[in-house]
Amino acid sequence: MVGILVFLAGICMGSFFHLVGERLPMKRSILFPRSHCEVCQQSLSMVDMLPLVSYVMLQGSCRRCGARLSKLYPIIEFVSGLLFLLIYRVAGFSFEGLFLVLLCSLFVIAVVSDLLYMRIPNVLFLFFFPLFVIYRTFHPLFHWWEGAASLLFCVLMFYTVDRLKPNSMGGADMKLFCVIAFCFGLKAFLIILFLSSVTGMLHAKICSFRADEPFPFVPAIAISFWLYFFGIPIFIQNGI
Ligand SMILES: [Zn+2]
Repeated sequence: MVGILVFLAGICMGSFFHLVGERLPMKRSILFPRSHCEVCQQSLSMVDMLPLVSYVMLQGSCRRCGARLSKLYPIIEFVSGLLFLLIYRVAGFSFEGLFLVLLCSLFVIAVVSDLLYMRIPNVLFLFFFPLFVIYRTFHPLFHWWEGAASLLFCVLMFYTVDRLKPNSMGGADMKLFCVIAFCFGLKAFLIILFLSSVTGMLHAKICSFRADEPFPFVPAIAISFWLYFFGIPIFIQNGI
C-alpha cells in the first residue's frame, strides 16, 4: 500500500519535474502561467492535469484543439514514479532516501531540458550541489578527501579532453559527472562514464544521429547511473 502511494507521489513529482525542465531553460516562471496547451494556449483543468491518467483519457491529444501532446509527459511521469518506488524499496523514509530523491529530481529535470533544448541552466546545479555537499558531509561514503580527489580527477580529465577535442562533451554532462564523482567516488564515476558511453552510442545509433552531430547525452548518464546504483546490491547493503 505504501509502495503504491510512493509511486503515485513519484508520478505527480514527475509531472512537476517535466514542467521545471521545460520552463527553466527558457527563463519562464515555474509557477505562472498554469499548465496549458502550447498550440491553442487553453489552460488545463485539474482533470486534464492528472499525471498519466489524463494522457490516457485524452488519448494523447489536447481536449480543445486536438493537438498531439508530447509522449515525454507520460514517460517522465512513469519513470519518476518507478524511481521513487525503487528508492523507497532501497532506503525507505530516511535521509538517504531524501538524498536519492534529490538526485532523482536533478537527473529527471536535466533529462527533460536536455531532450527538449540540449541546454541545462546552471541554476539547477547551483540549487542541488550545495544540498549534496551538506548531505555527504553528514553521511560520508568515504573520507572527505576521497570525494574531493574524485571531483578533482573528474575536472582535470574533462579539462584535458576539452583541450584535445573542444566541445566533444557538453558542459552540463561534465557537471553531472562531477556530481557523481563527488558523491559516489572515483570507481562509480569511471563505471558510469563507461556505461554512459555505451548507452549514448546506442541512443545515437537508434535515433540516427550523425557522428559529428551533437545529441542529448544526459539521458545516457541518468540511465547508467540508476543501472549502476540499483544493479550493485553490495553497494546498497554497505549503505549510501
Ligand atoms: Zn490545444
